[in-house]
Amino acid sequence: MVIMIPFINLKAEYRSIGKELDPKIHSILENGFFVLGDEVRNFEKEFSDYMDNKYAVGVNSGSDALFLAIRSLGIGSGDEVITVSHTYISSVDAIIRNDAKPVFVDIDKNTYCMDSSHIEEKITENTRAILPVHLYGHPADMDSIGEIAEKHDLFIIEDACQAHAAEYNGVKVGNFGDLGCFSFYPTKNLGAYGDGGMVVTDDSELAELLRQFRNYGQTQKYYHDFQGFNSRLDELQASVLRVKLKHLDYWNNKRIKIAKIYDDHLNDLDLVLPVEMEDSKHVFHLYVIRCKNRDRLKEELLKKGVQTQIHYPIPVHNQKAYENFDVKLPVTEKVCNEILSLPMNPFLDDDEVIYICEMMEDALG
Ligand SMILES: *Cc1c(COP(=O)(O)O)cnc(C)c1O
Repeated sequence: MVIMIPFINLKAEYRSIGKELDPKIHSILENGFFVLGDEVRNFEKEFSDYMDNKYAVGVNSGSDALFLAIRSLGIGSGDEVITVSHTYISSVDAIIRNDAKPVFVDIDKNTYCMDSSHIEEKITENTRAILPVHLYGHPADMDSIGEIAEKHDLFIIEDACQAHAAEYNGVKVGNFGDLGCFSFYPTKNLGAYGDGGMVVTDDSELAELLRQFRNYGQTQKYYHDFQGFNSRLDELQASVLRVKLKHLDYWNNKRIKIAKIYDDHLNDLDLVLPVEMEDSKHVFHLYVIRCKNRDRLKEELLKKGVQTQIHYPIPVHNQKAYENFDVKLPVTEKVCNEILSLPMNPFLDDDEVIYICEMMEDALG
């Protein structure tokens, strides 16, 4: 028998919740109302209740959540936003699309999140905001980032696209900034069956502004008070997300259990395993190890039927799309050659995880 362990398993997810989902999807098709309706409104309410914030505004992707969050704070041309390069491209692109300038800070080698000890040296008179990323499901160092933001009067925009329900000091991420941004890309801890995103905030004015921005600046039907965008969440995705939100805690707990099995079995190998800082709750969107001979390990695992990925092979500041970043980020530039994301999803069973660990032992032993 050929063993094949996929990195993500959305078919298994659908098999487990299809019975619950199918009638909801069917009723939306029958109702014939598809964009910004009751499903979106209810999901926004349920999401903000779950995340413990006052307002949630559904948009069409995590990328647009970040883009509109920056826009709603009035950040644009001539402004600088401090962020990281070790992230998915859209954390940075959201800044550039607003004509603002991303200023990169290196990452902490343990958490892979922004190294807050390097933030202040990057602050100039043009700095308007800090945009930390809770990468892989681990919270960024929000105490320090909060203190620095307060001292220098900067906004905080959290990229929580990989960290649904991760916690810092017992508080869910997305609540530390002026605005928190989430993605519902299908493979995220909470994913739609297509694109989707959300901005959360406790500020009613920002929430209202975001509602208008996502719908062409519309205040009443066909009355547009300012220029906006088409960035709406649709009813089908919202209905899928409403069903899946109820499973999120269970699924996150499964991820945490799987991480524990990995930890226990990989402990003796010549690898750097993920860490969870003392005040943090990691929700393991990804289980990322570091290995000197990463490419060989990846190949060996694939031969044994184990799919792995690299998040991310090229830091954003070195992407071909952007040619003008003249910055040295030693930790970022080093870890991207060593990191490997092992299969991680709530539908892996223990035997599969143990098999993966055995294959790692074979490859490295
Ligand atoms: C997925 C992701 C995004 C963008 O989300 P989309 O919904 O794919 O647009 C932004 N930042 C990070 C860190 C992500 O992982």
